Amino acid sequence: MKAPATSAVVTISRRAAARLRQGHVWVYRSDISEVRAEPGELVSVADEHGNLIGTALYSSSSQIALRMISAGPVRPGAFPALVRDRLLAALDYRRRLVPAAGRDSYRIVFSEADFLPGLVVDRYNDVVSIQVLTQAMDRDEVRDVVITTLREQLQPAGIVERVDARIRELEQLPPREPGLLWGEKAQTIFTLNGVRFHYDGLSGQKTGAFLDQRENYAAAECYAQGDALDVFCYQGGFALHLARRCSSVTAVDSSRPALEVAEQNEVLNQQPGRPAIEWIEANAFDLLKHYATAGRKYDTVVLDPPAFAKSRRELGPALRGYKELNLRALRMLRAGGVLVTCSCSFHVSEADFLGVLREAAADVRRSPRVLEQRGQAQDHPMLLGVPETAYLKCLILRV
Ligand code: SAH
Repeated sequence: MKAPATSAVVTISRRAAARLRQGHVWVYRSDISEVRAEPGELVSVADEHGNLIGTALYSSSSQIALRMISAGPVRPGAFPALVRDRLLAALDYRRRLVPAAGRDSYRIVFSEADFLPGLVVDRYNDVVSIQVLTQAMDRDEVRDVVITTLREQLQPAGIVERVDARIRELEQLPPREPGLLWGEKAQTIFTLNGVRFHYDGLSGQKTGAFLDQRENYAAAECYAQGDALDVFCYQGGFALHLARRCSSVTAVDSSRPALEVAEQNEVLNQQPGRPAIEWIEANAFDLLKHYATAGRKYDTVVLDPPAFAKSRRELGPALRGYKELNLRALRMLRAGGVLVTCSCSFHVSEADFLGVLREAAADVRRSPRVLEQRGQAQDHPMLLGVPETAYLKCLILRV
């Protein structure tokens, strides 16, 4: 392969080259030679012997300095057209694989897993939300082609941008406000498995649903029974599904704004015969401790905490956190009760998570069976060569 004359060539270490040959797409800053390229520019990647490995997007600030986009040459000016082709392929994948019931809302682009590193696009009914996580995807010509293609393919009523200020800072990108990029509509109502939710693309707090849990909501609902407790309920994703089957539902979160939306979501789904959900604003650790000591019992418990391990270093404390929660939940379950327990920390492996549950079960002298070992929904595909694209674990156990 000949390097395109116009793009800079970056030489990477032997270790990094081996990693790419295994199918990964990231090269860390400590593994690259000096680069003379603009932030977000396309660069050609070569191994120590000068053999070209492919083309990558360069970041001048991230620890992940290169994200591969092709094993061949890509002319610098050809990147927007490549983005368009990959966006069309991502849409086609969803059209084939996302079942009809969930079709008004799903992740359209999942960054590396859709060969568009640094771009996340979600659809909530007639509103599309985009999130830009890297310098390359923040370029005007890339934003333009993304918006044009989404308009043409989906005819949304609005396209909004979700902004992660911390990531923009890490990528040394100028601050941006979340807001409408196109159209008029930023608020809508969307449906997952027949449950309706409010979406507000302009709200200041982290918005949107956890679309990655869509299939787990449905699975949890299948097994749910009796008195249910949804811990870390956010805007009610699990609780609203549980309310279709359970005789009582209590849901806990520490965020008042999230609970306010949850209550509005409950109103959207009200039907005769469904229990009124009890929404509680509390620290989940304190509340579980208090409930377990008070001898409260449940037939169904859902645990879906935020990522406790954001880095490898936090693994120890994270595992202790997961153990404490799961131990208390297992203690509170009646015989035959069901625990739906999740971890969205990439650094906590499935084996680690099973280990935590094993220890928790042993401590409370119970012998739960694993009914299902689940992951993220199919609209969040895992790219085999990039383990980081698989992060969500959801175990369903019966005691
Ligand atoms: N189960 C939800 C998603 C949960 S996200 C769904 O399916 O939609 C994690 C949630 O945990 C957030 O809503 C956050 O507000 C909440 N949270 C974080 N720390 C908490 C704590 N210590 N106690 C209670 N809630 C907490």
